[in-house]
Amino acid sequence: MGEDAPQWRDWRWQIAHTVRSLSMLEKVLGITFPPEEREKLQETIDKFPLAATPYYLSLIKTEDYANDPIFRQAVPVPDELRVEECELEDPLAEDSDSPVPGITHRYPDRVLFLVSNVCAMYCRHCTRKRKVGDRDRIPTWEEMEVGITYIREHPEVRDVLLSGGDPLMLPDDLLDRILTQLRAIPHVEVIRIGSRTPVVLPFRITDGLVNVLKKHQPIWLNTHFNHPQEITPSAEKALAKLADAGIPLGNQSVLLAGVNDCPRIMKSLVQKLVKNRVRPYYLYQCDLSEGLSHFRTPVGKGIEIMENLIGHTSGFAVPTYVIDAPGGGGKIPVMPTYLISYSTNKVILRNFEGVITTYREPDNYTSIFCDRNCKDCSLQLKLEAGDEQHVVGIAKLLSDYDEATALVPADSERMARREDEEE
Ligand SMILES: *Cc1c(COP(=O)(O)O)cnc(C)c1O
Repeated sequence: MGEDAPQWRDWRWQIAHTVRSLSMLEKVLGITFPPEEREKLQETIDKFPLAATPYYLSLIKTEDYANDPIFRQAVPVPDELRVEECELEDPLAEDSDSPVPGITHRYPDRVLFLVSNVCAMYCRHCTRKRKVGDRDRIPTWEEMEVGITYIREHPEVRDVLLSGGDPLMLPDDLLDRILTQLRAIPHVEVIRIGSRTPVVLPFRITDGLVNVLKKHQPIWLNTHFNHPQEITPSAEKALAKLADAGIPLGNQSVLLAGVNDCPRIMKSLVQKLVKNRVRPYYLYQCDLSEGLSHFRTPVGKGIEIMENLIGHTSGFAVPTYVIDAPGGGGKIPVMPTYLISYSTNKVILRNFEGVITTYREPDNYTSIFCDRNCKDCSLQLKLEAGDEQHVVGIAKLLSDYDEATALVPADSERMARREDEEE
């Protein structure tokens, strides 16, 4: 089994030859784990299964395999068995924000729809480790229909994000069926697919698949490259096929200790991505999922990387660095600070080179009062107010038409005392 095998570029062959055992892994990589380590590794994969395509494993540089970024993402380590106090099985509370099985509805206008429990490779840093291999079960069509029905009955959902598992592990005809059903819902404007196949199984991007996706435009696809070593000629070919089909491509990386926690590696990665028409979208701080402590970096490492990207390379090569808030708070962007100070008519900023500069603000700006009555507004865009959700968060405090002046935690002792006194 190797790159010269006649079916190497056949994705089904790759799947059929997925490495799932330690002995197979040793054979493919030409390494032998010491007996004690081997025992711990077996325990690890009994908890979090092992799966990797021969293609992805072939990218490992065996001379220094223990430090290889591909090896570290694909091959288990006993550290995964360590569970820290701050770690959670479902840190993003995806299951609590799930109105029906398979759907997570967290943001006002979009939903996450898990349509597959299968991946070509089980990333060691997976945030959904609790579901990995669970246990290689694709939801039944009846279960999918429940999700589709939920979306159909919620007109506010204009963006559906297919994820899993990996949606592109589904057969073309099943994917076609799901996309057809979703497309038939008038309020679904955009369908997004999250898939790591361009990275771990680029041969999955066949002409047949691309033709299915093309039928259901607009489709956006986000993939998951973490290291420049993953951008191979085969991956580039897969990306080109998707881009040529008019599918806008994005990339979501995870900041991983010992894999890509380096500004130079990240700059090289994002530059290679844009060269392949992939827009770096998010850089994630590693989640608080169980068994990931050895992958986590301080947030400062991410800030340092952002400091090295913003201004230093093309703006569209710079992802947004986000922390996905534990408990289901969603993605929170974090950035270096560029706004240094301000007065009533001046803002003081610093740029990436260290220049400190002044932006003079207008003295005679008249803000337009907004009561959401677009009919009487001097701005020409006439919006149907009914289309929008009610305002939340800081946007609510900033608005002219909502009377709220503070956001107060519901469970504060001070508020509890007030209620007591009112009684
Ligand atoms: C990330 C995510 C989305 C999509 O968020 P965007 O910021 O629009 O990419 C939607 N739902 C859930 C539950 C998510 O975790």
